[in-house]
Amino acid sequence: MKQFLLIIFSVVFNQQLFAQEEQRCNSFELLQQLKAENPAYANMLEQSEIYLQQYISTHKNHLRTIITIPVVVHLLYNADSSNHKLSDWQIISQIDALNEDYRLMNADRYKTPSVFDSIVADCEIEFCLAKKDPNGNATTGIVRVETPWDIFPDFSSAKQTANGGDDPWPYTDYLNIWVCALQYPMLGYSTFPSASINASDDGVVIHYKTFGRINVFSTKYKLGRTATHEVGHWLNLLHIWGDSPGCSTDDNVSDTPLQDAEHYQCIPFPFVSCNNSGDMSMNYMDYSRDSCMNIYTEGQKTRMVSAINLFRTPILNSSACNAVDTLAYDIGITKIAQPDYLFYGNTIAPIVTLHNFGSQTISACEIKYEKNWKSNLNSFSWSGSLAPNANVDVTLPAIADSNWYNIFCAWTKNPNGNQDADTTNDFKTHSYYSLPDTLNSINIGSGEIQNQTIFITNSFVTIEMNNPLLTERNISVYNSIGQKSKIALTKTALNKYQFNFNSVSSGIYYIRFADSHISIVKRVLVQHDF
Ligand SMILES: [Zn+2]
Repeated sequence: MKQFLLIIFSVVFNQQLFAQEEQRCNSFELLQQLKAENPAYANMLEQSEIYLQQYISTHKNHLRTIITIPVVVHLLYNADSSNHKLSDWQIISQIDALNEDYRLMNADRYKTPSVFDSIVADCEIEFCLAKKDPNGNATTGIVRVETPWDIFPDFSSAKQTANGGDDPWPYTDYLNIWVCALQYPMLGYSTFPSASINASDDGVVIHYKTFGRINVFSTKYKLGRTATHEVGHWLNLLHIWGDSPGCSTDDNVSDTPLQDAEHYQCIPFPFVSCNNSGDMSMNYMDYSRDSCMNIYTEGQKTRMVSAINLFRTPILNSSACNAVDTLAYDIGITKIAQPDYLFYGNTIAPIVTLHNFGSQTISACEIKYEKNWKSNLNSFSWSGSLAPNANVDVTLPAIADSNWYNIFCAWTKNPNGNQDADTTNDFKTHSYYSLPDTLNSINIGSGEIQNQTIFITNSFVTIEMNNPLLTERNISVYNSIGQKSKIALTKTALNKYQFNFNSVSSGIYYIRFADSHISIVKRVLVQHDF
């Protein structure tokens, strides 16, 4: 134990010296420790990487089928710290976040730089809270265990009942996630899959302060991306920069740019290193803040799906997501169709999909809904006729909205006036952006404007866009015969850009601002020798 503590503390100490930020993840340190303890493990990992690369080269076209992974969450709470005892719905919000990120349904996918458009992946991996425990009994997929630890002291105790943690469920049927207090600044760690998986430690550990996306304690890590990142390791992904500084180490994924080092903040794109066209700091496998992560690539998807097929084969046949019993009165929400992930306007009229999981026809229930989990809950009494296993889309009364990133939450209560028999399928969360519904917040400077034409003599046009989601990808410049012109565009401040028309000849140009909803065009007269 002393040696464990020494290693942990030296890791933490080094990070505080050099990083001055939370260490998003200690999976690499865990890997180094396991290799040091057991040289055979290191050899086996090397061999496994060879197997994996061979598998990838011979299985270029994977069947496009959705893989669903059953999850058990072991919540280890200390009775002295009631904060640790996260609610079921906070845990469910984490599963929703994983499902959005691994299915490219995250609202902030909009923010991925356009240069990566061709490699952004829907990983086609989904997660469910287990409905069946290892003994075949019904479960919520959430196990709460009181622990004497204020902070877990090493990489193994959380996974051991005998040491104040909770033993894992079989890795052949479940992804084990332990949620507990970790030593600052560590946010989480995971094991990696290989040809020889250790049944006693396989899984992911997450600091309780960063788990879920409602009521999260952390302010920088509150969108559930700590789990997205760690589950990436569990599915065989390495850190995007290859875990050592410099350009000689890679993440063994061909479509992610070679990258010098990790990023801790939200950095503007492009940040160039290793002669790349910009670090992929918005990749879930970097260390950026939650609000700045939004992409897995096709290459990472291939690596994950291959690892599941090669090393985690049994989980493909797990039935742990299937309910053991059909209960009488059991209604829930399976989808939030509106607001869409990009929403324009000042009010939202949500649409939720009700599903009857029970055996009785449901004729009435309560639907509660709210954005960002505030106390001002909205309520709607639904009535109709919903047969067992049937769905119905319900449009809820509109509520006021504010412009920015939001988490919409909805849940059901009281089917036919009864207590719901299974509350774990009642609750659903959904991320979306609401935006101003006009583009009148664009300001263009550095020129004289006459009849909608900007006359410029100093070669620069400055553009300020107060719409937070518009970025350089929404701006294009065309010449007078409609050809796209390459005009240098520099980000000078948040939402502020500057075009440099120095490199083009005098003439008329058109600057177009567009996204899927709106488009406006401004005319620019460039006169160099004016
Ligand atoms: Zn990591």
